[in-house]
Amino acid sequence: MSERLIIVGAGQAAAQAVQSLRAEGFDGPITLIGDEAWPPYQRPPLSKAYLLGSFARERLFLKSDQFYRESDCTLILGARVAAIHRAEKTVELADGRKLAFDKLLLTTGTRVRRLRCPGADLAGVHYLRDIADVDGLQAVFRPGARIAIVGGGYIGLEVAAVAAKRGLDVTVFEAMDRLMARAVSGPVSDFFAAEHEKSGVKLKLRTGVEAIEGDGRVEGIKAGGQAYPADIVLVGIGVLPKDELATRAGLASQDGIVVDGNGRTGDPAIFAAGDCTRHIGREGTAIRLECVQNAIDQARHCALAIAGKPASYSEVPWFWSDQYDLKLQIAGLARAGDQIVLRGDPAARKFSVFHLRGGIVAAVEAVNAAPDYLAGRKWIADGARIAAEKLADPSIPIKQMA
Ligand SMILES: Cc1cc2nc3c(=O)[nH]c(=O)nc-3n(C[C@H](O)[C@H](O)[C@H](O)COP(=O)(O)OP(=O)(O)OC[C@H]3O[C@@H](n4cnc5c(N)ncnc54)[C@H](O)[C@@H]3O)c2cc1C
Repeated sequence: MSERLIIVGAGQAAAQAVQSLRAEGFDGPITLIGDEAWPPYQRPPLSKAYLLGSFARERLFLKSDQFYRESDCTLILGARVAAIHRAEKTVELADGRKLAFDKLLLTTGTRVRRLRCPGADLAGVHYLRDIADVDGLQAVFRPGARIAIVGGGYIGLEVAAVAAKRGLDVTVFEAMDRLMARAVSGPVSDFFAAEHEKSGVKLKLRTGVEAIEGDGRVEGIKAGGQAYPADIVLVGIGVLPKDELATRAGLASQDGIVVDGNGRTGDPAIFAAGDCTRHIGREGTAIRLECVQNAIDQARHCALAIAGKPASYSEVPWFWSDQYDLKLQIAGLARAGDQIVLRGDPAARKFSVFHLRGGIVAAVEAVNAAPDYLAGRKWIADGARIAAEKLADPSIPIKQMA
């Protein structure tokens, strides 16, 4: 008899899972339950072209209605799964409905980390995770408005770039001593800091936010002992895995639902994929990734396992960020102690930073340098050894290096 599959969370991983399950011959009924009003959509444009207003909402959706119909996938939207009953193999919706499964796939993603300081709940404090958040932000995104961005990571900086382009007065507050410090090397941080400043964005590094001030709604922000006027606050200080369904059902989570290389949790009937998971990465350490690549690849591997063709997950992580006309592409995971090799000239707004570990390419960060990124990603997958002097010499074409 065909197995019944339920997917909880209608996002990037879920859409991929439906596609891959059918491609791999899974023939049971699929039910996809999501708590947002929308079918699965891509989030990356939310802080980029969609916020800018140059990307129509319809283009966000990952699949058409026809795709779900033809995939025999029932969508239950605007419905939150409140509990998993493992013994009876059902999920319970917040409205009390119970649905039975043979296999369950959790793709519940993340929730934003919330600012905890006086005034954090004032009207005018925004976060950016879903379509509704952007719609709320659009309503107040007016030229001349003063926006204080808390957090100099990807989301904060992408919003800063859009806001500057749209004529807002932008200040970014970052507690660390450089931008995107968790994700990029010093030269890349410094380059983006200079680009933001060129566009009029004020950067306050080493400046922790102490309070949001205002009477009922935002009027200013207190940071590093100083007061700054502000009309809007956008908080981008990271995300936390939505793992509570799993943990309440007795499944292990360590800042992410623990899964093996097939996306399996400790229960052989329950899988998980995407931002909500933690897995053992290529380098042998447990890792939680928050990127489209991981959501897609893990969903594929879950689909393979559910369809009875398990293949272990060991993909090179990759990520991108768009700020102004700059495309930052990253592959692999850098570590402190890597040898850093600069290729090209940041002043030309086209360069890359390679990370060598024991002479082997471990990561690449490329700015407007897609060929370097693509070569680097392949080298990381192959475990290639490339001499630092060659990499640093832009007169040697990247294609002639391996
Ligand atoms: C603004 C923004 C910009 C980004 N930019 C990039 C980028 O440039 N490059 C990149 O690689 N990545 C980017 N990301 C990250 C990327 O979007 C995520 O890694 C990806 O969406 C993860 O997919 P997912 O399926 O794991 O989770 P999600 O796509 O977040 O989907 C999870 C879904 O599950 C729902 N859900 C959770 N719990 C329940 C429940 N109990 N019942 C029902 N539904 C539930 C959630 O509401 C959500 O709709 C960005 C993210 C954001 C927010």
